[in-house]
Amino acid sequence: MLNPFENALLQLTRANNVKPFSKEFLSRISQPEREIRISIPVKMDDGTTKIFEGYRVEHNNARGPYKGGIRFHQDTDINEVKALAFWMALKCAVANIPMGGGKGGVTVDPEKLSKTELEKLSRGWARMMAPNIGPDKDVPAPDVNTTPEIMAWMNDEYMKITGEKTGATFTGKPLDKGGSEGRGAATGLGGFYVFDCLRTKMNLPESCTVVIQGFGNVGGNAAEILASHGHKIIALSDSKSAIVNENGLDIQALNEFKKSNKHIEGFPGSRTITNAELLELPCDVLIPAALENQITEKNANNIKAKLVLELANGPTTPEADDILLSRGIITLPDILANSGGVTVSTFEWEQNLKGEHWSEQDVYEKLKVIMDREALEIYERAKALNTDMRRASFIVALERIEQAIK
Ligand code: NAD
Repeated sequence: MLNPFENALLQLTRANNVKPFSKEFLSRISQPEREIRISIPVKMDDGTTKIFEGYRVEHNNARGPYKGGIRFHQDTDINEVKALAFWMALKCAVANIPMGGGKGGVTVDPEKLSKTELEKLSRGWARMMAPNIGPDKDVPAPDVNTTPEIMAWMNDEYMKITGEKTGATFTGKPLDKGGSEGRGAATGLGGFYVFDCLRTKMNLPESCTVVIQGFGNVGGNAAEILASHGHKIIALSDSKSAIVNENGLDIQALNEFKKSNKHIEGFPGSRTITNAELLELPCDVLIPAALENQITEKNANNIKAKLVLELANGPTTPEADDILLSRGIITLPDILANSGGVTVSTFEWEQNLKGEHWSEQDVYEKLKVIMDREALEIYERAKALNTDMRRASFIVALERIEQAIK
């Protein structure tokens, strides 16, 4: 299997085959403008010092400061971060927000760290990256295993070192530390707006059956929002297990269950299946909301959903895209479907810079306007170009970035 960055480049080539761009532009957009690797020393609770490898990849800033999350995961490496940074540049262009693309990470299993060690690691990342980030340079945010509390530690460290006063360097902060209303739910909600806006065009019923891989920030919020709009969540998973109940899972009760048990296995009324089985369940909508490379040429022939709503980044490989397409399964691609998170992050940055605090209703209304507008734009471009939504979203994004470079 190709690594995520190779997959991202293949997606670029495939979009370029539909609408060719100049060679100069393609070579410029195919590589990040800057790759930063750091070694972060952390004094562990047992008195030893451990070195963690951290990254920031700044892909392109033609449209605005680099923007993108920081991932803490044991499998994170430079190729994953490069792919995520590239997708961020495209995603910000799809959402038409004034941001470029970047991404960060640390190779670490945060579950193995104490809270003190996690704070030292987070502050270490911000300290060592300080020369490269800032409200008008590069604005990081949360991603897998990074939380509002981690953003608050990083922002605090950055402000102490640099004297920066607006607090606009990191987004996804807690509300009392300059965070925006609605940021927590933004990615799931944005995905719902995109889905809801295009649902009838995709011939999907008013009440759909939904399967979700991943029950973190994105998957958890998507589950709650879809359920509250009359859709039936029949299966859900986290990194440890997957559960199914064809009559529908009670998401609020499942949240309570996970809070007290730390896992979802054994949730009353459900039966346990594997994560692989979950992806192949019959349903209207399949939502990958965990990690990359989940739908591949190995399982794409067994996917039974009518629509794949990509809330994770890079969950489907290009080979799997072809198989899904040939089987009439529609994919709403990540750089459109999950762009609600970075959109509200940008609202947070704007509020910090202006010293404002917008109401939740304001945030959701502004988000809906953007998601609906861009979902329809990509849908129409796909029809006009006689291509799929992934290629269409790449083409729209590339046109906007090329224009900004010009
Ligand atoms: P998170 O850490 O809050 O949650 C991740 C979830 O995925 C957890 O439930 C975890 O148990 C589960 N998971 C991990 N490995 C798994 C596996 N192999 N199989 C099944 N489940 C697994 O992270 P998140 O912020 O919800 O991010 C999820 C995805 O959404 C990532 O691809 C991320 O890049 C993308 N995304 C996040 C945001 C955001 O605002 N947080 C925005 C856009 C895209």
